[in-house]
Parts: sequence; structure tokens; C-alpha cells
Amino acid sequence: MKYIDEFRDGELARGIAATIAAEVQPARRYRLMEFCGGHTHAISRYGLLDLLPPAVRMIHGPGCPVCVLPIGRIDSAIELAREHGVILCTYADTLRVPASGGLSLTRAKAQGADIRMVYSCDDALRIAQENPAREVVFFAIGFETTTPPTAAIIRQAAALDVPNFSVFCNHVLTPAAMVHIMESEGDPDAVALDGFVGPAHVSTVIGSQPYEAFAAHYHRPVVISGFEPLDVMQSILMLVRQINAGRAEVENQFTRAVSREGNRKAQALVAEIFELREAFDWRGLGEVPRSALQIRPAFARFDAERRYGIGYRQVADPKACECAAILRGHKHPADCKVFGTVCTPDHPIGACMVSSEGACAAYYTYGRFNVVVKEAGVA
Ligand code: SF4
Repeated sequence: MKYIDEFRDGELARGIAATIAAEVQPARRYRLMEFCGGHTHAISRYGLLDLLPPAVRMIHGPGCPVCVLPIGRIDSAIELAREHGVILCTYADTLRVPASGGLSLTRAKAQGADIRMVYSCDDALRIAQENPAREVVFFAIGFETTTPPTAAIIRQAAALDVPNFSVFCNHVLTPAAMVHIMESEGDPDAVALDGFVGPAHVSTVIGSQPYEAFAAHYHRPVVISGFEPLDVMQSILMLVRQINAGRAEVENQFTRAVSREGNRKAQALVAEIFELREAFDWRGLGEVPRSALQIRPAFARFDAERRYGIGYRQVADPKACECAAILRGHKHPADCKVFGTVCTPDHPIGACMVSSEGACAAYYTYGRFNVVVKEAGVA
């Protein structure tokens, strides 16, 4: 398949790996964070870590939408369905994220709440139109990639004047999270980083330009990377070359989809419907200033938070769960004592085991046997 097969060529990947190995400087360390869960998935699925020299260390970032959603927000969604009796619609992964009291949206549904999985926010609006006597809330989560469709559906609901539809908005912003990670440098549980593999899908919307001030200010290179294995390997090589040369620029490896400007039409749509929140609580990162969106007052009638007076209560992760440290890049899935034993994709204890973009799920699916073997000292 075009744009897929040619980016999965093992021979080419080994060639890039040899170039990386030849160009890394022996006395140097290259600590690179892949922000996106999609990159974490590709790295695990294609065994890219095995191709890299020891000097290059990949650190998994917080770019998995369901992973960064804190428990308190899932609790609020469950409350909407149980206490306010709404039909709550959301994407599949969100349904399985553990919430307080042993609940999840799936378990709340099993106990009688009207919670429905949708493939798109259009489905949620359609359900509202088909059920005029019921209130329907779309539980919107995700980074800049999923924000334009949510904006479009709010505008459509306004145009069609659908009175029983609203959105519980939890959309978050990538650049603000990257800034927060760099601002945490020096904290005892922060991780030192030399460069970033930048998001692919997010950057198709926002472009590569928003990372320029970040790269210059923190003097860290950013390479926007596609999700295929050759994309990731080439991006790592580009980062190694920048670090060797003492450069800290934004480079775009994913030129087949990302431009400097991004998708202006989508940006305008998002700006029309949403405004910045003062702060948002992220799982793992804590409260991050100006890192999320809320619905503008002009569209307040579609804002579930206003309509139902939803407050936010911070809830701690389960004691055994290391999701917060993993999302900060401070720990590895194998550092968690319950990884692959008590916590599995069928029975997730933390959010990082739910979505395929979560680091724990990616390691469990593609790398758990390696982890066990290495831990046992066999290899
Ligand atoms: S293995 Fe499970 S409990 Fe442990 S950090 Fe990952 S998601 Fe959390």
C-alpha cells in the first residue's frame, strides 16, 4: 500500500540504524522523548529499540489521549450519566479507563447508565436528534487532532438548533505540555531530555511553526515525525545530527502530511468554538497552565460543564500504578510492580494499559517477553 509499505522496509531501517550508530558520539548521551503514543506504539511494534545504539535512549512522553485524562474527569462523565440521566457518548478507549470506586464507563454502563460508544462525534449528534426527549452529552477528549471534529459538531448543533445536545470538553494542547515538561527540569522526578520526536497527527493540524519558539527557548531540537518505522528511525537520525551540531531547530520529517502553517481552516474552526482554559489537571503532569480548551461563551448552551454545573475533583491514581511517572518519562512500564500480572489490557489498573497508544499497553502487546527476559538476566 502506497505510503505504508515503503516506510516499513526492514533493510532500509537497518541501514538508517547503521548510520545512527556511526554518527553517535561515544561520550554523548541522546535522551529523546517521543511525545506521541503513536510513536511509542511504532517503536514497540517494530522493535526499533533493538536497532538503536546504547547511547540513544527513547523516553516515552504523555501523548496518549486517554492516558492523560485524570480520574476526576472520568468520574464527572460517570456522574453525568448516572446522576443527570443523560445519554453519554464517547470513543471506545475512554470507556475502559479506570475511574474511582472500581468503576469505569463500561462498568457504569453494565450497572444501568446509558453510556454509548461512538465512532465519531457526528454519531452523538445523530443520537440526540433521534432522542429528542433525552439529553445527550458527547464526552470529548484528545489532543489537537480530535479537536476540529468536536468544534465542527458544536457548530452544526448550533446551526440545526439541537437543544438536547452538549459537549463535555476535555481537549488538551501539545505545545503547553512540552513546555511544562521542560519547565519541570531540575525536579527530582523530572527526566533530562536532549530532543523531541514531535507529534505527527497533531502537527497536521497545528503545523510545525508552534514548536519553533519552544526549540529556541529551551535549546532542544524537535523533529516532527511520521508514525511508520522508517519515519521514526529517520527522525532519530535527524535529532542525532542536530545534537551533534549543537543545533536546536524544528525540522519536519513528515513532509508528506505536515506543513509549517498546518491546517488553517481547522485552526480557524477551533478558534471560533473554543478558548483557552486557565489551567487543566493532567494525569502525570498535574495542573498545567493554559494547556486545554473550553467552549466559548457564545456556544455556552452546548457546554455540558455549564449546563450541569460539573465541578472537578482531583483523585489520586491507585497506589500500585506508576502511570503518572511513566507519563512524565520518569519511569518505564516494567518499573511498575503490577505490569503484566495484575494489570493487563483485559484488566487495566491504570490508563496507560488501556489504549494501544499507552506505553504499558504497547510494551505488553509487543515487548513484555523482552522485558521479562532482560530482567531475568538471560539476555
Ligand atoms: S502497568 Fe498498569 S498499573 Fe502499572 S503503570 Fe502501567 S497502567 Fe499503571
